[in-house]
Amino acid sequence: MKYEAVIGIEMHAELNTKTKIFCGCKTDYGAQVNTQCCPICIGLPGTLPTLNKKVVEYAVRMGLACGCTINRETKHDRKNYFYPDLPKAYQISQYDIPLCENGEISFYVGEDKKTVRIRRIHIEEDAGKLLHDNRFSGTLVDFNRCGIPLIEIVSQPDMHSPEEARAYLEALKAVLECLGICNCRMQEGNIRCDVNVSIRPAGSDQLGNRVEMKNVNTFSGAVRGIEYEIKRQIEVVEAGGHIEQETRRWDDDRGESLSMRSKEDAQDYRYFPEPDLVPIRLDEAYVQSIRESLPELPLSKYERYWKENGLTPYEASMLSTDKDKAAFFEACLEKDASLAKQICNWILGDIAKLQNERSCTVASLVIDPAALCELIVLTQKGTLSSTSAKTVFDEMLSTGKAPGVIVEEKGLAQVNDEQALLGIVEEVLAANAGPVQDYYGGKTNVLGFLVGQCMKRSKGKGNPQLFNKLLAQKLNG
Ligand code: ADP
Ligand code: MG
Ligand code: ZN
Repeated sequence: MKYEAVIGIEMHAELNTKTKIFCGCKTDYGAQVNTQCCPICIGLPGTLPTLNKKVVEYAVRMGLACGCTINRETKHDRKNYFYPDLPKAYQISQYDIPLCENGEISFYVGEDKKTVRIRRIHIEEDAGKLLHDNRFSGTLVDFNRCGIPLIEIVSQPDMHSPEEARAYLEALKAVLECLGICNCRMQEGNIRCDVNVSIRPAGSDQLGNRVEMKNVNTFSGAVRGIEYEIKRQIEVVEAGGHIEQETRRWDDDRGESLSMRSKEDAQDYRYFPEPDLVPIRLDEAYVQSIRESLPELPLSKYERYWKENGLTPYEASMLSTDKDKAAFFEACLEKDASLAKQICNWILGDIAKLQNERSCTVASLVIDPAALCELIVLTQKGTLSSTSAKTVFDEMLSTGKAPGVIVEEKGLAQVNDEQALLGIVEEVLAANAGPVQDYYGGKTNVLGFLVGQCMKRSKGKGNPQLFNKLLAQKLNG
């Protein structure tokens, strides 16, 4: 590799407060257009904004979770620009003194730990949404999103590959979700990113000119955009060209980025302190109380699941980055931590499948952690075959009965009595002369088929390992 890529990311995350940042309007997603707005958030003259305290609290939570310094005295600034989705013609943001700065986030890329420095986290308001649709001519504006609170999380240019960028995005998302401050629904635009990419000769410590890509709405889009941009920049340089600082727009459908503006046409936002809001002053006790209320973060869960509970790094990451799965896993560990691996198998296997079918959370399936542990133990002891375990699980979900009770009622206990199974083995051998011939002819994989026949005759209750053993003994004896 002659070149090294350098990547820095600005992530905008919508905070899930009940009301907007500067007025009392609701923030519900999917409401009828222009029904969640008022004179303040549509910027009518003569109105005054009032800061929503929750926004500060949520942003400080994120700042502390990322080890940032929390500035005890900050303010709001106006970022002036004209666009139809911004009725005031300025956005209230934070310019030179962000609420949080100088933090970092660590995460794993495979088994390697990586740390990315966070330059700053500030609060700001979202703009409205332009609606283009061929059911009407022109463009309409929905102001419901005006004034929805956002935090912007700005990284240092510390990432060097699309994989690292993706892992960084996933790590931030997991923390936001874990803190409960963002709904993290990508399809609802809760998380949007601008991705900055440059290249430099491998080994250099100078930064090359960066290209900022706007309009990145999915993590896979970010990966595609970065891959595309690195390739494009290398091609320009290899052809003797030069990369100029510019802003490009990522078009995920077309799989390419298009130039929006160069450094020369960069906008001057004429930032100045917002005169309609008072400065934000935070005292030590307030910051300390938020620090003390932080939950265990995904990274710590990941390391614990991997190193203490014996899960693979992949399994640990699947559970630790999903608040709902992690909560259920923990509840089961409290019942019996020695079953960690099997509990994980259920969560990532049958339970995840069910969640997909019903598109629901684990919590909403209302599985009793103690019952799942009991089911696992019944399987381990050989009372249940893995097939019957699934039947018991389904029954458990629909009736809420304990696994032991279901096994009794349905007579699902696995038959481990060799004498009882031998009868079935003999019947199956007698009824399958053809396959038996094949077996003697060298097709030993017929054994699997014969085990299946035995399982069928035993109505799924026979122990498959025992059937296998008995069949082999009979055929070879
Ligand atoms: P601005 O304030 O103009 O948006 P910043 O210098 O604050 O620019 O950087 C914005 C983002 O771009 C940050 O995430 C930063 O890490 C990233 N960045 C800055 N320089 C580079 C570079 N040379 N290559 C890649 N990313 C960069
Ligand atoms: Mg920027
Ligand atoms: Zn409003």
